[in-house]
Amino acid sequence: MTRLPSRHARNCAVLSPRMALLTLLSAGLLAAASVAPGLAAQEILISGGTVVTSEGRFAADVRVREGTVVEIGTGLAAEAGARTIDATGLLVMPGGVDPHVHLGGNRRDDYRTGSQAALAGGITTISNFAFPAGGRTLAQAIEREAALISEQAIADVILHAGINDPETQEGQMTTLAAETGQTSTKIFMVRAAFDAEVPDYMATMDAAGRAGVLTMVHCEDGPILARAVAELTAAGRTSLEYFPDSRPVVGEVVATQRAVAMAEATGAPIYAVHVSSEGALRVLQDARERGLSVFVETRPIYLHFTRQRFEGPDRGLYVGQPPLREQRDQDALWAGIASGSVHVLGTDHVAYRRDEKMDPSQTISRHRAGLNNLQVVRPMLYSEGVVQGRISEERFVAVTSTNAAKLFGLYPRKGTVAVGSDADIVLWDPDETRTIRDEDMFSGTGFSVYSGWEVTGWPVMTLRRGEVVYEDGEILAGAGSGELLRRGRWQAP
Ligand SMILES: [Zn+2]
Repeated sequence: MTRLPSRHARNCAVLSPRMALLTLLSAGLLAAASVAPGLAAQEILISGGTVVTSEGRFAADVRVREGTVVEIGTGLAAEAGARTIDATGLLVMPGGVDPHVHLGGNRRDDYRTGSQAALAGGITTISNFAFPAGGRTLAQAIEREAALISEQAIADVILHAGINDPETQEGQMTTLAAETGQTSTKIFMVRAAFDAEVPDYMATMDAAGRAGVLTMVHCEDGPILARAVAELTAAGRTSLEYFPDSRPVVGEVVATQRAVAMAEATGAPIYAVHVSSEGALRVLQDARERGLSVFVETRPIYLHFTRQRFEGPDRGLYVGQPPLREQRDQDALWAGIASGSVHVLGTDHVAYRRDEKMDPSQTISRHRAGLNNLQVVRPMLYSEGVVQGRISEERFVAVTSTNAAKLFGLYPRKGTVAVGSDADIVLWDPDETRTIRDEDMFSGTGFSVYSGWEVTGWPVMTLRRGEVVYEDGEILAGAGSGELLRRGRWQAP
């Protein structure tokens, strides 16, 4: 795990006595009778705001007790000792759910700094991938990550078991769902070995479907990409300038077609991660129209940048797989979010520092793919989407929270503001205009590719299970207060 301290680390490592008390209270470990009068014990009343869910928006107060939303209505009165939060002029939205995050390994964010970046950006549930190494089972891979989560996480966490070797996995799907409560897995069509193992992957997908486990699929075709890289290399075009050409759209489209065919043949649901092109999106939209359980995620960088970025000197910053595409692809993805055919905006957060991303030794075949996105994915989408008139506030909530909560078996505990749901709430100032700055980032990378962008709409406070965990630029909860969530089976959004 990375040990690089973020500049905010000192503020966050230790719970203040008040927050420690609140944590205990919300965990139900202290009797109400022992609470000193005047302390904001179990109740928080969020008053005067506008609640926004994926279904609509309405003026309402929200009463939170013991980590849960217990009442929504107008003119609610605070109980004695409650903390009242004035949300006049603010949106009261469900905390974000990001099902595509990479933490740990040789990268600069672990569960702690990843949580801090997420919570500061209004995301209360993050994810990570657990890959079984050296003959381990999927359940053992989950167990290893669970130990790190209990030490480090502040946001709540879900895990996807990644499949390295499909031959050994078929019998493990039921165990995965029943024993670990983690109901998703991931396969990589881009792997060189994929073609030789298609029968095993199909058996795994089939078993996953029967166990209520959602299969995430990275749709790029290995042979088509390998050929493109070989041709560019033979022509001496190995610089990152040619990165978009090294992973052509056709490779994404054909892999997406094949993934859809595998879903159709097995009857199992699939979730296409980081869809980048109009062509791949069309394949998935067509499958949906034919009634298949096929779901679509895109990634923030595709909404805000095109392949033109590879013409500039800072091209290394934008390397991700698949690459940035053309303007028409970007337009298709925005239209998909607006219409509902793109279900989830997942960050695909990968934390490398700026100097690592800019390393001049990188080539089309050796590079650091991915970038950090957790803290500003929602502000960027709100500003470029809602404020610019491309999408509604309801769609904003749907693609950053509700749909992922449904697909990953968390709804209605997560993904909405409703009586009985966890009080994972972000108070959002729709009018606040800010310039994104490296120095405000909690990620261990210390930078944002969006630095310098002026955005309108900003999270001012985040509650996770009823605890104020982010306020006025500070993280208020300590490492280990986040939980690994047990999940049910997937639901269609
Ligand atoms: Zn990823």
